[in-house]
Amino acid sequence: MMQRLTQEELASLLQAKIEGIQSSTPLTDVVIDSRNILQPEQSLFVALKGAKFDGHNFVREVFDKGIRTFLVQEDFSPTASISKKACFLKVNKPLQALQKLASHQRSLFKGPVVAITGSNGKTIVKEWLGQVLSQKFSVAKSPKSYNSQVGVPLSIFGMDPMHQVAVLEAGISTTNEMDALENMMKPNLGIFTNIGTAHEEGFVSKNQKLEEKARLFQNCEYIIFRKEHAMITEYLEKRFPKKKLIIWSDGVGADYTLTVKKELSKSKILLMRPDLSLCTFMVPFSDEASLENIRHVIVAALTLGLDTKTIQEGLNHLKAIDMRLTLKPGTNQSLIIDDTYNNDLAGLRLALEFMNAQRPKKRKILIISDLLQVGNTDQVYEEVALLLTFYKIDYLLGVGKDISCLKEKLMIPMRFFQDTEHLLESLHDEFFDNDIILVTGARKFGFEAVVNRLQQRIHGTSLEINLNALTHNYNFYKTKLDAKTKVMVMVKAFAYGGGADEIANHLQQLKADYLAVAYTDEGLALRSEGIRLPIMVLNPVQESFPHLLQHDLEPVVYSLQFFKELAIFCKGQDKRMKIHLDLDTGMHRLGFEEQDMSQLLSMVQENPQLEIASLYTHLAAADESRHEDFTRSQLQTFTDMCERIMAKLNYRPLRHALNSAGIAAYSEFQLDMVRLGIGLYGVEVTGLYDQHLRVISTLKTTVSQVKKLKKGDSVGYSRKGIMEKDGQIATIAIGYADGYDRRFSNGKGFVLIHGKRAPVIGNVCMDMAMIDVTDMEVREGDEVIIYGPGISLKELAENIGTIPYELLTNISSRVKRVYYLD
Ligand SMILES: *Cc1c(COP(=O)(O)O)cnc(C)c1O
Repeated sequence: MMQRLTQEELASLLQAKIEGIQSSTPLTDVVIDSRNILQPEQSLFVALKGAKFDGHNFVREVFDKGIRTFLVQEDFSPTASISKKACFLKVNKPLQALQKLASHQRSLFKGPVVAITGSNGKTIVKEWLGQVLSQKFSVAKSPKSYNSQVGVPLSIFGMDPMHQVAVLEAGISTTNEMDALENMMKPNLGIFTNIGTAHEEGFVSKNQKLEEKARLFQNCEYIIFRKEHAMITEYLEKRFPKKKLIIWSDGVGADYTLTVKKELSKSKILLMRPDLSLCTFMVPFSDEASLENIRHVIVAALTLGLDTKTIQEGLNHLKAIDMRLTLKPGTNQSLIIDDTYNNDLAGLRLALEFMNAQRPKKRKILIISDLLQVGNTDQVYEEVALLLTFYKIDYLLGVGKDISCLKEKLMIPMRFFQDTEHLLESLHDEFFDNDIILVTGARKFGFEAVVNRLQQRIHGTSLEINLNALTHNYNFYKTKLDAKTKVMVMVKAFAYGGGADEIANHLQQLKADYLAVAYTDEGLALRSEGIRLPIMVLNPVQESFPHLLQHDLEPVVYSLQFFKELAIFCKGQDKRMKIHLDLDTGMHRLGFEEQDMSQLLSMVQENPQLEIASLYTHLAAADESRHEDFTRSQLQTFTDMCERIMAKLNYRPLRHALNSAGIAAYSEFQLDMVRLGIGLYGVEVTGLYDQHLRVISTLKTTVSQVKKLKKGDSVGYSRKGIMEKDGQIATIAIGYADGYDRRFSNGKGFVLIHGKRAPVIGNVCMDMAMIDVTDMEVREGDEVIIYGPGISLKELAENIGTIPYELLTNISSRVKRVYYLD
């Protein structure tokens, strides 16, 4: 929460001009987003301007929600109806003013501030360090990855006097950004995780990026980094006095030596300190990235005065994965939000926001543990109560000693338990049906067991969808388009296998303009899940006409005959139906051709009960530059056909032609709207922007059994696999019935186990497949990645002569979909 300031104090702090009416209520919250306003009368709304977004356009909406204090740009004039009812603080640049306010808040904080930057691992190091430090201190940390020009101020407003240490992360994407972050954070201790190639486009060179990042440390007392990152080491040693640097290394010649002995899923870290004393830590990971991150954490915790025993206790609670907010299918149509890693207010707020953004369900249920290490308990639980009221929680199950104080603060049905075991016993008497259940607790409460109990049993295989990556891809395509161009997202075929309900819901949050499905049933399913966006139906049939009309689903019309049937159906109805005309310019699949035009034109005119919402065409080869002439002729024909139709209408339908490949290669033809498909799901088919998209889905399974075989032994049906030498195979729980293509048999496909590639041996079976894991350390239950980061769909598809589209959409519906925010 922000330190309490009145409007007048704010104005003088920010040197803002005050207009409108003033009040003396102190302000405690800063809001930049019109959603989720908790305490409007105590909130300051800051109108920020982004590339695609202007907060000033939301002043009215926010006013209606009760906010009366606005920080705006000096040339902004509120409408007459609100200018007399609210207070406007006018400044030259609201973002700078917000940052100034954050600097002020920072100056009131007495404890040390740790700032983390680097190309990878920032968020993990911050989370883990926060967890370890919370063994001894009350810790404020940035929620998730709030590390930008806007995110950092918001993180700083989360630093209260009750906190003893703050852990913040700083991220930049181009030059001249770090000074502002440094100025707000004023870190005492810095951690430089590493430097990689991410965001290379914002910098002229890696060196420039390094220099810019290092500006975060200009006033630090100490900077922690790893000696093996030669560029960082060389630069920091040149730039800063030696006494500021705390260097750690795998080998000798550093302040701290931390050597690793890996076991299968954990590792032993041997530490030698500057005074040459030795000690060991056990950590629950064995992958390189986690091991680097955790060693930053250990060195930082030592520097902040934790003893080795306390650090080890903190490490025991860490886990490599699952520190993400995850949405899982529960029993009886319920949805589970798994946030079992979280234990602070900022995290709780994010989880509740995420809950609020889901499809509507019967009840909102919260299962929550004590919040740990929070100082003034009563004040914290007051805030918890406020949050739960605001987010309209219907039912609460609390675990722990402190949390039961909510009894006096809330009026909803509640049950409390002394520990997780008692909760688990009592879950038998609870009946969840079509509810949404948020499970959030500190690590030591072991709420994984609660989630396990509530979720639908997931057989070995699951498809994990990263909703943040989806947002990233969506925004990437938005950057290729003008701000006014609309985006229709193709969620046909179960959203390319990803799961239409959740993805459509997420797109609704992202404010996509349109959705498209293949069949009416798919559209009806989305409507029943509360999706309100306009929906185009590519392949409607006559029997579905009444449903289309009733649920505002908008059919594609592609032939004269179909037009006629629909026109007759709609004649006596009391509302108009919106339709979309598919114009065939060379795809030769569906659509009106040149020769249909004159008849089409008269039918359009004779049937005003059908409103032409859009005209579109589909490109046959936008992904292949060798067909550029053909594509351009399609676009030309389309433009001509559109002109002829539009001349007969007294309104303007939308025009659209580009699919994902089209957006990448022919963005000058974006017209009024584009139709985004495969690109959103992380595959850039033209190859022009491969580096810019993130993989959104990971198909995973587990090892069911490991077998040692001898040279010459055969594997699987028809004895197709033959061991070339003595070795071992693993049987994995996925087969062609799950969508693991049988063409991957006999070495055409491979999977990842512990980050290493292992080929398929023998024929893929219906529910299982065998892989050759000779010379690899593999055990039953180990995780196997089928597709995902590190194993490209394009490469796999090519191996078996198909395209990524087919692999994505073939994943069977029996494979559980799990959604998360990373
Ligand atoms: C599927 C489809 C798209 C999307 O194509 P991508 O290649 O996945 O971007 C666009 N328009 C129509 C008509 C489609 O059927």
